[in-house]
Amino acid sequence: MARDIPFSELTTLQVGGPAANLVTAATQRDLVDLAVEAWSGREPWLVLGGGSNLLVGDDGFDGTVIRVATKGIEVFARDAAAASVRLRVQAGETWDDLVAWTVEQGFSGFEALSGIPGSVGAAPVQNIGAYGQELESTLVAIEFLEEGADRPHRMTAAELELGYRTSVLKRGLRGIVVSAEFELHDTAAERAVLGEALGQPIAYAQLADALHVNLGDRVPVARVRESVLGLRASKGMVLDAADPDSVSAGSFFTNPIVTERVARTLPGDAPRWYLEEEAADEVTPLAGGVAEESPLDQFLAHQASLEAVGTLTDAAPAEPLVKLSAAWLIERSGIRRGFALPGSRAAVSSKHTLALTNRGGAAAEEVAQLARFVQSRVQAEFGIVLHPEPVLVGLEL
Ligand SMILES: Cc1cc2nc3c(=O)[nH]c(=O)nc-3n(C[C@H](O)[C@H](O)[C@H](O)COP(=O)(O)OP(=O)(O)OC[C@H]3O[C@@H](n4cnc5c(N)ncnc54)[C@H](O)[C@@H]3O)c2cc1C
Repeated sequence: MARDIPFSELTTLQVGGPAANLVTAATQRDLVDLAVEAWSGREPWLVLGGGSNLLVGDDGFDGTVIRVATKGIEVFARDAAAASVRLRVQAGETWDDLVAWTVEQGFSGFEALSGIPGSVGAAPVQNIGAYGQELESTLVAIEFLEEGADRPHRMTAAELELGYRTSVLKRGLRGIVVSAEFELHDTAAERAVLGEALGQPIAYAQLADALHVNLGDRVPVARVRESVLGLRASKGMVLDAADPDSVSAGSFFTNPIVTERVARTLPGDAPRWYLEEEAADEVTPLAGGVAEESPLDQFLAHQASLEAVGTLTDAAPAEPLVKLSAAWLIERSGIRRGFALPGSRAAVSSKHTLALTNRGGAAAEEVAQLARFVQSRVQAEFGIVLHPEPVLVGLEL
């Protein structure tokens, strides 16, 4: 057990005070034992993966932090007729190592999620997504150790109620993801004919442009990965010790979802996606994969996660829902890339308005002040409340 290790050493934002007790689980047995021990003492506890979606306050965390470092990737089923493969992956595996490995194997379904930092266990928490893919297209189930239990049980993807950057885990179901089960497309048969492993149809315009293909085209998984990594690096969205813009928690705000009525109050050039269109255009389900949630279900799950709902005040169930661009709202409220409050060591990324960065030695409160300022500018200009994407511990916006 390590004492008083600061969260500034445990998170990618590099801010936050000490973790009173830090324990690390390298095996599934250890993970269960450490969790049961932490729960028996009735002290506060927190589970930690790569620390890439966490903003912890300057007072730190006065309890037990369980860091998940379990490893293992197992292919446990193949269905040649359906061209699918099932994997079970331990929670402490690094997400991007898993993506790289599946690309090498010629499995498709993760390639557009290349370069997202963090652990496999945290990926279902906010249903990670990028460049037209979301975890829910491939996640079948997790092994979940619910707070108070002494052994994990299986929860299906449907039970997790995955939505846009949310799940029941993010909305408050307490426990630990021990492992995750995925179904990917196995390109082996295609490869034998075509000589290459094609990925899922490209479902994101910027990625299609970078690859010089059309939306819906299929491109070798290795090329998709390379292209996504390039796009992400150009936005400071891959962890890189040489890039100060990557000292962040990724996107700090989610894209707001509003009713069509609210969206109509915005200037005509405000980017907007009707949720049904978005589901068809941006998210590519795997054939024969996990059952898809309807956009309305996704919305209802997301809505349940919103507390101070400036964005959804009058939502009538039948009214069409529209997703807006948080980056556009921030820029149009007058906040430019690189913006910092006077004297603050926190700044908006110089490459991407949605990321808040630590320019060196910032306090968590400086990041929070910047976040509040961004929220207040957008609310004053457009009447829309931006919600933080990272999990906040020991501070509030
Ligand atoms: C540069 C950068 C780019 C990013 N880009 C994206 C992106 O494109 N798309 C995207 O979706 N996200 C993105 N993120 C956010 C982040 O990478 C993901 O949310 C990731 O899944 C977090 O993983 P982690 O292991 O670091 O989680 P942590 O930060 O350690 O934890 C996040 C939350 O999950 C909980 N948690 C962690 N592990 C477990 C577990 N085993 N069981 C239960 N709960 C757990 C924690 O308690 C906490 O509440 C980005 C972050 C950065 C820094």
